[in-house]
Amino acid sequence: MKIIAALLLLTLPASGQVIDVHMHSYTHEEYWGQGKSHGGVSSPKTVDQHLKETIEEMNKNKIAFAVLSGSIESLQKYTDADSRFIPAYLDRETLIPPAEFESYIKSGTIKVFGEISAQYYGRTLTDSIYAPYLRLCERYGIPVFYHTGTAAPMSPYHGYPKFRISLGDPLLIEDILVKYPKLKIYLGHAGIGFYEHTIDMLVMYTHLYVDLGVILWADPYLNECAIRFLQFAKKAKVLDRIMFGSDQMVWPGAISKSIEFLNGLSFLTDEERRMILYGNAETFFKLK
Ligand SMILES: [Zn+2]
Repeated sequence: MKIIAALLLLTLPASGQVIDVHMHSYTHEEYWGQGKSHGGVSSPKTVDQHLKETIEEMNKNKIAFAVLSGSIESLQKYTDADSRFIPAYLDRETLIPPAEFESYIKSGTIKVFGEISAQYYGRTLTDSIYAPYLRLCERYGIPVFYHTGTAAPMSPYHGYPKFRISLGDPLLIEDILVKYPKLKIYLGHAGIGFYEHTIDMLVMYTHLYVDLGVILWADPYLNECAIRFLQFAKKAKVLDRIMFGSDQMVWPGAISKSIEFLNGLSFLTDEERRMILYGNAETFFKLK
């Protein structure tokens, strides 16, 4: 028995090791950090400071890899500074041409497609604008990282007039999973507060993954959604496809806050926490 336990320990990641599948990068022009978040986490004043504090938080929390979503320019800056960042291309209302996208895949500049911000622009992943990119992702085995759920309060009045909560429902991309059966895809923010639909999707599509970005730290409403979602996911036996993501945006301290919140959920076992913090992402991204 002791030998089996010892062998098991050897195959598990070092205690406390983490993969964060939801972070963002910025150029100097794109950076919007200022003041504190709703939850009181402070934001660095400059993008250089944001990068420095993000790396410090990654060291403190033993983060082995982090999926980093941003413009091509911002990805270059962050990945040059730390090799643990996995670069992900964040779309805007218009996207880089498909041929350029393919060349970035070939050069390793893009390793994940996302966070796809379709909802902010009044569309979903079923919009024909995404079809050539999804075909390339399926062909090259590039994971797709898709924003679901909601966004900051008053988003339609603050720069995103086409944003609608209803477009964040995970059920709306069911056709994509059927049309591209080999596509590797994970849903950012686990579709909160459509979390019951997220569970439906995870039960039906056993290759679908989700992340817990923003819902572990940003405010009490999201925290409550995270608790309900994780409890339901445990009953539905889909915890093995839920990945840790901070979505710290411009608040690096949200990484520690998210991990502390997750570690404080007593209905999860140590092994379940370890899967969420590391093992599930290790499997999804083939990081073994
Ligand atoms: Zn998002």
